[in-house]
Amino acid sequence: MRRVFLDMDGVLVDSIPYLLNYHDLEHCWEEWGQGNYDIYSNTGMSSQDFFDVDAAVWFDMPKTEWADELVDLCLDNFDTFIITSSFPEAMRAKYMWLQKYYKDFNMNKIIFTWRKELLANRNDVLVEDYIINAELWEENGGTALICPQPWNNNNDIDHVFRSLKGMI
Ligand SMILES: [Mg+2]
Repeated sequence: MRRVFLDMDGVLVDSIPYLLNYHDLEHCWEEWGQGNYDIYSNTGMSSQDFFDVDAAVWFDMPKTEWADELVDLCLDNFDTFIITSSFPEAMRAKYMWLQKYYKDFNMNKIIFTWRKELLANRNDVLVEDYIINAELWEENGGTALICPQPWNNNNDIDHVFRSLKGMI
């Protein structure tokens, strides 16, 4: 069975709009620079300050609109892993977030790492929102699918679903 690795932030978790709201920076979402993932130039906050929030904030973040359909499709058809970078303080909250929304998910298949590409093997699929991670994954022989966000090429989410269904 083909292996699919699902990123959390920007793929399953609607993190950035929630953090903008948390920091009273909602207006930055509408003005977000297309293709630009740099936190400082989009928000005026350092990346460190922007993401340095309590675990409870990470736990409360909402799902993306396509998260349920994506998880269902992957659990039904692929050997599915969660792969996510995380600050140490947020790890437990992310783990609990997954338990809250996806009880059926095997919690032994969650991987916390800042070096996702080390897991890329031929035929392995990464569902990701950050272009750099996607490129590194593909350089290491895997296939990457990009969920639409302002900071990437903003493909239609249907492209992700069509591609995954084509791999079943
Ligand atoms: Mg992400």
